[in-house]
Amino acid sequence: MEKSQKPKNLLFSIDFEDIRYLVPDGFNYKERLPDMIGVFLDFLRRHEAKATFFMVGNVAERYEVLVKDIIAEGHEIGCHTYDHKPLNFHTKQSFRVDMEKNLEVLHKLGATNVHGFRAPGLSLTAATSWAYEVLEDLGFTYSSSVMATQSAFHGWPEFGKGFKLVNDKIWELPPTLLHNPVLSIPFASSVYFRFLPGLISKWAMQNSFRKGEPVISYFHSFDIDSEQERFMHPGVNNSFVYNFLMYYRRRGMLNRFENMLPKDVVFMPHNAYVEKYLAGIKLETDNVIYPSYAVST
Ligand SMILES: [Zn+2]
Repeated sequence: MEKSQKPKNLLFSIDFEDIRYLVPDGFNYKERLPDMIGVFLDFLRRHEAKATFFMVGNVAERYEVLVKDIIAEGHEIGCHTYDHKPLNFHTKQSFRVDMEKNLEVLHKLGATNVHGFRAPGLSLTAATSWAYEVLEDLGFTYSSSVMATQSAFHGWPEFGKGFKLVNDKIWELPPTLLHNPVLSIPFASSVYFRFLPGLISKWAMQNSFRKGEPVISYFHSFDIDSEQERFMHPGVNNSFVYNFLMYYRRRGMLNRFENMLPKDVVFMPHNAYVEKYLAGIKLETDNVIYPSYAVST
């Protein structure tokens, strides 16, 4: 049997946000963001890798030096809205205002080529798909904002598997899911990665790479923070079970992730992937592809 030469592309991203902004009296808790982002930057340097940092504008404003360091190291900067309000709390108009403000902040800090978007809480669904028109107007080329499965929070199971070119303009790249009828979750991302036994995540990652599909992965500073105080996290509906999971297996998380990467993994910022593999592709029928079906090399 011939050995697969398909590139093992890993689109690794950090949602740059400070959980303290989102909980009552949050600033009474310890400041953890700079140290944890430092851990991620060390990880990326070790792999000589570039990633995408989706920035919350009002956090970026407070950490100017850190943001400039991230830019100076050559990582991609994307938008994660100005104040991390999920899209279902926005109107189309208020979302546009928020995004213009976010872009202004990021440009002021030196970010150029900001063309990628991630919705807070992956809150882009059929009900909030008006967001694509705003993204198009503001010059975005891709989004990685859809939980393409049933979810306790925001999910869009009808979105379909794979990538989609929305309105002929914006590529939607949902975080990669474990395609299992019982557990269809983003196996290489955040709380879901921490929850799954490592062997399952590793198998799922190998499976994607074998098919020539990229793995789209996201984490937050809190995902690796074993010293953060306990409090009820925002966005978990005040559920003690979900909140327990928010803190579950943070210690050693990045080591576990690192250990499951194949030696020849290729880290790639989202925008580089879109430019290399997707730009110029014309879709005619159902507008949904897995990249391996469309790209021969
Ligand atoms: Zn977020």
